[in-house]
Amino acid sequence: MQTNPFDLFETFFGGSMGGFSGMDQSTFRTSRQNTVLQGEDIRYDVVLGFTEAIFGTEKYIILSHLETCDTCGGSGSKAGSKMRICSTCGGRGQVMRTEQTPFGLFSQVSICPTCAGEGEVISEYCRKCSGEGRIRVRKEIKVKIPPGVSKGSTLRVRGEGDAGSKGGPPGDLFVCLDIEEPSDIKRDGINLYSTVSISYLEAILGTIKKVRTVDGTNDLRIPPGTQPGDVIALAKQGVPSLNKPTIRGDHLFTVKVAIPKRISGRERELLEELASLSNGGFVRTDAKPKPAQPKRVHLEKEVGASQEDTDKSKAAGDWLKKLTHFAGSIANGAAKWLKENL
Ligand SMILES: [Zn+2]
Ligand SMILES: [Zn+2]
Repeated sequence: MQTNPFDLFETFFGGSMGGFSGMDQSTFRTSRQNTVLQGEDIRYDVVLGFTEAIFGTEKYIILSHLETCDTCGGSGSKAGSKMRICSTCGGRGQVMRTEQTPFGLFSQVSICPTCAGEGEVISEYCRKCSGEGRIRVRKEIKVKIPPGVSKGSTLRVRGEGDAGSKGGPPGDLFVCLDIEEPSDIKRDGINLYSTVSISYLEAILGTIKKVRTVDGTNDLRIPPGTQPGDVIALAKQGVPSLNKPTIRGDHLFTVKVAIPKRISGRERELLEELASLSNGGFVRTDAKPKPAQPKRVHLEKEVGASQEDTDKSKAAGDWLKKLTHFAGSIANGAAKWLKENL
């Protein structure tokens, strides 16, 4: 059976070819390591309110990170004490292990586990940090959140991660943002989306609706003849662009028109009269129509009654008086507008 020796090596060394580094004697001659490593980065999660994310804010966060011990300056040894040569590696920082394999003796060089490659060890530890060179500190820092950040945005605060070992430079703090979402406003990029519910009379006559925006309560003008599903925008009431805060998105309102399922006898009278205007005689097919098959009366055409037809215009005027009576004050302004424009 033919055997690929390469496969065998992989089997013996568990797929790692690290064993071969031991055959390269040049690495053994290199001087002991004295590495100053940069500290670890830290992640911190912050939940922002909806408007905080839109307009920006300042957050105080309390984080726990490692700082270089100020007593020993990160060395970990007691002040005035001397380092002593590592007895494990004799000061070389590396150790050689020889293994017997079916192919002969293999030597492997690795970093000394006692001194971590330093070649010398601390003889007396710093009391403050117990020789670690770093101490854990709780610290409050202020993070400035710019306007327009979105869910999943990450802010980098340089130098607020863990300090490096042996006095090495610190890593960074990454503040990861999550944002609370209100039920009535949805955000997509720089635009905001809401729905506004109006009555069918308001849709026909137009009205002013109070709506909630991120700037507070605002007036949304519903023009006469608004259709269900129409989108009305409050320009520049959305989210500022993160990169260009002078640019601001819009707040878009999708109109929902409520058609009443039950109406009073008086309302029915008026609506039937209204229907007769457009049909030239409304025919009641059912004295008590089943709710499952409601009779749809389309009113839109009547609102824009043409001026040439004076009879119709007069009739519309009468209807308007009655309508104003029962629609109440909401429709008043719109009715006035309608009168002026008929
Ligand atoms: Zn110390
Ligand atoms: Zn050593």
